Amino acid sequence: MPAAPAEPWYIVRQSAIHNQGVFASRDIPKGTRILDYKGHKISKAESTRRGNAQIEDSAKTGEGAVYIFVLNKKQDIDGNVPWNDARLINHTCEPNCEAQIIRGTIWLIATRDIPEGTELGFNYGFDLETWEDHPCLCGTKSCCGYIVGKEYWPKLKRLLKKRQQVIDAAGEEERARKADAAGEKAAKGAGKKAGKRVRKGE
Ligand SMILES: [Zn+2]
Repeated sequence: MPAAPAEPWYIVRQSAIHNQGVFASRDIPKGTRILDYKGHKISKAESTRRGNAQIEDSAKTGEGAVYIFVLNKKQDIDGNVPWNDARLINHTCEPNCEAQIIRGTIWLIATRDIPEGTELGFNYGFDLETWEDHPCLCGTKSCCGYIVGKEYWPKLKRLLKKRQQVIDAAGEEERARKADAAGEKAAKGAGKKAGKRVRKGE
């Protein structure tokens, strides 16, 4: 007879990061297999179909709800099922666990000692395809602002810098336009003879 299941390492409760979260129910030593990522095994084709549907849904609701995990070359796991507590683990930029596939099971493993009561978090490892749709709310010191795998952070930083430059340039243009408009008004008020448009460079 199999041994009675040990008390789980985790409990599910309200998270400060996002909706529900998963927390250490007692001190978890580094290297512990905390829980496994359950779900339906699906083919790659089905995975693509479901993934796109989940992305569409998440774009509508604003929730980063994509639950598909790569299992192996042929199959993925769709963890969007109520009995998969691991789907409630939030993404964080400072993870205390990571997903590892061990003999066909996706385990969430403690990457350091986790004190009782701490929220569990791992890096979802999203690529840069849809980063803008997934802002990160983890609130950690090293938060990069978006739910993106760490290997993409340097590229993300470059993208964000570029975007900021575009925003700054647009702001500059807007200020110039407003100054122009104000100048135009003043000119109109002062002259009022021809109503000629005051344009820059004329
Ligand atoms: Zn973050």
